Amino acid sequence: MSVIGKAVGSVISLPSVGALFTPLVHDRGVILRLHRFRDAELGIDGRDPQALRRVLEFLRRERYELLTLVEMIHRLAGDGRPLRRAVAVTIDDGYFDQATVGAPLFAEFDCPVTTFVTTGFLDQKMWFWWDKITYVFDHTPRRDLRLIIGDSELRYYWEDIQHRNRAREDFKERCKAVRDADKDAAIQSLAASAEVELPDRAPPKYSPMSWDQLRACEEGVMTFAPHTVNHPVLSQASAEQARREIEDSWRRLCDEAYRPIPIMAYPNGRLQDFGRREIDVLKSLGFMGAVATETGYNDSSWFRANPDARYMLRRFGNADSLPHVAQFVSGFQRVKDVVRGEKSQLVRTGELSLSGSRSETRPHRYLDSVPRRNGSETPA
Ligand SMILES: [Zn+2]
Repeated sequence: MSVIGKAVGSVISLPSVGALFTPLVHDRGVILRLHRFRDAELGIDGRDPQALRRVLEFLRRERYELLTLVEMIHRLAGDGRPLRRAVAVTIDDGYFDQATVGAPLFAEFDCPVTTFVTTGFLDQKMWFWWDKITYVFDHTPRRDLRLIIGDSELRYYWEDIQHRNRAREDFKERCKAVRDADKDAAIQSLAASAEVELPDRAPPKYSPMSWDQLRACEEGVMTFAPHTVNHPVLSQASAEQARREIEDSWRRLCDEAYRPIPIMAYPNGRLQDFGRREIDVLKSLGFMGAVATETGYNDSSWFRANPDARYMLRRFGNADSLPHVAQFVSGFQRVKDVVRGEKSQLVRTGELSLSGSRSETRPHRYLDSVPRRNGSETPA
């Protein structure tokens, strides 16, 4: 966020200033998305719990209506009072810190939260591909790597940690663009080149919550919903695999949780990461909705006019940042969206296709260098 953006966010977060924009979010639902929480002892560089505390204090002080995701969907559908200053909070993936750090904080503010769990992760049958990449880059004794991804050869080299981190993020971005089989092979190729042995089970820093922890969290304000078994990009999977990932994760969660919620979170969650096929599977299984990672407000009138809308709910990231959250929930973000041409209109007019198109490996040959992206990502 720019300096000006932070300043604007700070002003809007002042008591009652945000209320000026409330008419802009009338009948619109805000869903926030979080990921990991910082745990200095284990070296987890997640969201700062103190920053999240300030967000929750703000939402309570300014009397925002904190809804469960289920309630949000009902209200978007027109059941109950129209939405006004309504917020639902979600967390993705099922890491242990979401139970140990996140759940108590949300309980303290009596703020409902829905956590989407990857069931194979909680069963300790897999750990996440992006964590494997981080693990390899953190443990390699080498400063240059040659590896294969898809049909291409990549070469990375670095001189300092910053440069190495950029290489790591570049590799993660490239992995998002290839099919799962190619991604797994590329990570194996990375590990071999880096001379790092990848453990079968997640190291402590990258561990899931246990099913017992999940049930303990259910005693408080946290509910749980499925996020597939293995976290594949569904649009890149076969029809059978996509159905199995959705169906089996739901069944597994129903076996373990006291009150599983029939709402899916798509892995990766961009519009190109799921499609008509996945929505039809969710409908056939009786799911009440699904969340994406596309950013934006959920508009009631669009929701009621479009039977697929409940299966492509939008969420705002940066949910631990008060300046950001103040802009989202107050409606000020709507002003920015309008100024920028309101991206969400594209969805309403059907310009963004949900045909389940497959993404292709980016064409590149031999990358003799330096990654182009910087900054950390937030996997979903
Ligand atoms: Zn995820």
